[in-house]
Amino acid sequence: MKRKKKQLTILVVQQEDYERERMVKVLAKGNAVVHSARDGREGLEMVSDFTPDILVTDTALNKLNGLELIRKARLEQPKIKVVVAFGPYSPKALVQAVELGVDSFIRLPADSTKLREAVMKCARDIALARRMAQADYSLRQLLNFFPGPAILVDDLNVTYMNRRMAEFLGYEDFEAMSKVDLGLEDFIVQLNEEKYTGQPNEWIKAIINDPLDRDHVLHIENPRHPDAKANAFAVTFNQFPGSELRLFTLQDVSGLEDELTHLEDEASTDPLTKALNRRSFLRMLGLAVVSGQPFSLIMFDIDHFKAVNDTYGHDVGDSVLREISQLVRDNVRENDTLARWGGEEFMILSIKSDMKRSKRVAERLRKSVAEFSFTNVPKQITTSFGVAIHDIGESSEELVKRADEALYEAKETGRNKVVAG
Ligand code: GH3
Ligand code: MG
Ligand code: MG
Repeated sequence: MKRKKKQLTILVVQQEDYERERMVKVLAKGNAVVHSARDGREGLEMVSDFTPDILVTDTALNKLNGLELIRKARLEQPKIKVVVAFGPYSPKALVQAVELGVDSFIRLPADSTKLREAVMKCARDIALARRMAQADYSLRQLLNFFPGPAILVDDLNVTYMNRRMAEFLGYEDFEAMSKVDLGLEDFIVQLNEEKYTGQPNEWIKAIINDPLDRDHVLHIENPRHPDAKANAFAVTFNQFPGSELRLFTLQDVSGLEDELTHLEDEASTDPLTKALNRRSFLRMLGLAVVSGQPFSLIMFDIDHFKAVNDTYGHDVGDSVLREISQLVRDNVRENDTLARWGGEEFMILSIKSDMKRSKRVAERLRKSVAEFSFTNVPKQITTSFGVAIHDIGESSEELVKRADEALYEAKETGRNKVVAG
């Protein structure tokens, strides 16, 4: 069965009987239902009774003039298309019609071809708008079947969020959310590593204009659990060809993110002492070098540790390593980083620290260790320190070498002391 096209409804308002009947006859030849009225008031009544798609009206009408009819008809039916038929007597009304932004004009007496063309133009616009609305509707419905949160973005505006997305934000659907005048930006707390400023389209810009084409993570708070950590969503998008329309799809990676952070912790720390391991420390040192910020390196080594193992056993040696690590952490700043360089050798990276402070820190640590009573070790345990400040332009290897040499000197000159390199 052939699908029937939706018929157009046309209303012709014209007070000259002959003219009106002729226009109706011309338009009725197409696939349209045509109504007619002879004055403005009757015209308006028919607008409300038949909700025509197209209004063809004269500007000069009895009872309600043509321009008023257009205004009121649009209040009744905002999408109505308007063709103005005008005579030589109404130049002022014509200007006003232009100002009203009507869709087409024809001169009276109406030429049948021109009349048909004007109406056809309106009909094409209507058909296009219907197709767009249909496409838009279908797309939205489709997105509601989509298992994850999805967002339609036109240029830089969110034009739709599927049900999954709206529900996550605590709304039944996008319409419900739009009614309370809230946007996604009101829920985003973080974009990648940065705190979100709350600008409506900033996240869209950042994602679509990213020259590196990285994965982006949006941290969005869950309004039902305001105290819980924001959920992390990995965002990807696809652009519809030939348009600025993009589909953003979100994948909740909160669990994965926690897991990664956990893995990173496991992989970057030494299991015995919980200090940073050598590999991670080197990465951090490299970053400190390229940062251009001043920092210092404090290297230390336990004195005669072999003897501790030999006398009290390896397990006691292990607990000494653990206790020393904790002792150091308790005696340095929060952002001073402790790493296990190897065996019983450690490093402390201290940003924004000059020689005076670094020596003072090392001296304090030396003293704390020497005074500490280690578990199952009746005698005193001491440590030797080498301190070096990073010189501008110096490589991490050179810096480590200088700290190592200072430590060597501390060992050579009696141990349990601090030497500056
Ligand atoms: P110095 O004062 O010159 O540093 O003497 P030292 O005995 O501390 O130096 P040496 O390098 O001769 O010995 C280091 C010892 O550290 C040898 C090794 O068995 C011990 N050691 C290294 N790693 C561990 C560990 O994880 N646990 C234990 N218990 N001992 C370790
Ligand atoms: Mg040693
Ligand atoms: Mg050693």
